[in-house]
Amino acid sequence: MISFTIKNVMIAVDNDYATVDVQIVDGAIAAISPNLQVIGTAIDGKNKLLLPGFFNAHTHSSEMWQRGIMSVFPLELWLAELYDFAPLDTEKVYLSALGTAVETLLSGGTSVVDHLVLIPGLELETIAIATRAYREVGIRAFIAPLIQDESLSAGMPSGESAQSHEPYFRSTAATLEIIEEAVRQFHRPDEGVSILVAPTGIQLCTDALFKGCIELSDRYNLCRHSHLLETKAQEKLAQEKYGCTAVEHLKRIGFLSDRTTLAHCVWLNDADIAILAETQSTVVHNPLSNLRLGSGIAPILKYRQAGVNVTFGCDGASSNDSQDLLEAIKIGSILHNVTDSDYQHWITPRQAIEMASLGGAKGFNLADKLGSLTVGKQADLVLYDLTNLSLLPRTDPIGLLVLGRPSNVVDSAWVNGKQIVADGKVTTINVDDLRQELFNRSQWETKRKSETVAQIEAHYRIVMGL
Ligand SMILES: [Zn+2]
Repeated sequence: MISFTIKNVMIAVDNDYATVDVQIVDGAIAAISPNLQVIGTAIDGKNKLLLPGFFNAHTHSSEMWQRGIMSVFPLELWLAELYDFAPLDTEKVYLSALGTAVETLLSGGTSVVDHLVLIPGLELETIAIATRAYREVGIRAFIAPLIQDESLSAGMPSGESAQSHEPYFRSTAATLEIIEEAVRQFHRPDEGVSILVAPTGIQLCTDALFKGCIELSDRYNLCRHSHLLETKAQEKLAQEKYGCTAVEHLKRIGFLSDRTTLAHCVWLNDADIAILAETQSTVVHNPLSNLRLGSGIAPILKYRQAGVNVTFGCDGASSNDSQDLLEAIKIGSILHNVTDSDYQHWITPRQAIEMASLGGAKGFNLADKLGSLTVGKQADLVLYDLTNLSLLPRTDPIGLLVLGRPSNVVDSAWVNGKQIVADGKVTTINVDDLRQELFNRSQWETKRKSETVAQIEAHYRIVMGL
């Protein structure tokens, strides 16, 4: 089994730093202390900072193919454009999963939660190829096949006019069968691949789908993932659909739990926040996506004061338009300084680091195994090079890592004790080949015309009072 010892490495201790040795035995942290005997390979940690790996706790890998080109739109129109041009071959899904894994790793993430868009008719093949990509890179993967059972137009409030919607092309039962089969074939948490139940959100899912997901989650011990109240339009829709808030409804049907992670959570009221705290649900904050799509600013400081666990995600690369987790952590921690004047609640760099690591581990029910440098936990670790120009001159390493603009600072990364980044390079796949494939399978483009946007834009403007 894998054993190594990192010598003379800097770690964070209460409001300070210490220089220690860290022994990893059989993929787990065995000892943290100065002057330890070297077990296995010795790794020089001098002038380097060791942190637990972060979670990129919400993304959609195949959006990588459309990053940079999406129109400047709010979510509902943006989604229509996105789906008009979604990649429909599994080889592209494979490459964008590799790309998402690499960018996550090189910005401090050792876990990725892929709310994976499924190619219609090739659902299990899509899950299989994304699983293969993540296994090849060696990143810890939480694959959350994105499912719905209502057509896209149902995701908008109808306003005064009664809207009728096309039925979704696949039945609820058939969708749940796909997820159960994915669990049988690919859910291997001990090997670093977990399948989650992941209805896209209240805007496109019936209660039958949510209940089927809850049932699978209970039967197979799966975590639950969903978008929640990303936009003002979804807040309106929940009132139309349920006559109460989306959070009240999700509580009533039993979807909220201590292994439920909810992406965005922008439009919640104080009673909703109390429900998230009471059910121990986790909020995944995606600040860049919320800014890009004009969705709003999630009340993260309120969540934290109410005792709600919060972690960070990049969201898909079409609404970000990157997968730089350190960037998401930076924006996600300073954004709220403009909405809440009491600076005593503002997020400090050390708190941001803890949200990104332990916050993610808690959300996916792994706080006993991941998320901190603790003897006995799995070695999902990242070593940062403190001699990198962007981390100089020497001040407070965590302060500069979070608040600065670190680039190429990840020296090494391990998942379950296996080294997958060394000397700043991913060691498990050939990233030059990946670059070549991404180049060859794409072209320089400018404006595209989305037919679906043309169909729905007028209605959207009326309903939203624009
Ligand atoms: Zn999303």
